[in-house]
Amino acid sequence: MTDSPWFNKGLRFSCTECGACCTGSPGYVWVTEEEIQKIAEYLGLNVVDFQRKYIRLIYGRKALVEMKSNFDCVFLKEKRCSIYSVRPKQCRTFPWWQQNLSSEQAWKEAAKFCEGIKEEAPLIPYEDIAKVLES
Ligand code: SF4
Ligand code: SF4
Repeated sequence: MTDSPWFNKGLRFSCTECGACCTGSPGYVWVTEEEIQKIAEYLGLNVVDFQRKYIRLIYGRKALVEMKSNFDCVFLKEKRCSIYSVRPKQCRTFPWWQQNLSSEQAWKEAAKFCEGIKEEAPLIPYEDIAKVLES
């Protein structure tokens, strides 16, 4: 039998769409070829033009461009994601990342910059979190 994870009673979270996870410090939003295609289509661009403008190559992997001045994701406009319906999986699954769920302390650290993690937020059942982790 496997041990239950520390968050087996669920966790409290509700996204306020503050945009803080899309800026603040250097980082990488990794994208797959399929995601690139979807976003390009959404923006009405062909994949070549899209990649030229919005993709950078990091250690051989593709990531979205980030603004040099403030580390904003290139798609963050007025604190909102301008490609929200087609945002990459990495964005869709935040804050349910292994690194944030590895311990209660890690979750508390994530709460320092994600205002959606708070006691007043709705309880997200463990099963829903597990589904995201397995996706
Ligand atoms: S794609 Fe959207 S959700 Fe993802 S980092 Fe950029 S602005 Fe944020
Ligand atoms: S930092 Fe948290 S509350 Fe703000 S947009 Fe990101 S997930 Fe939502």
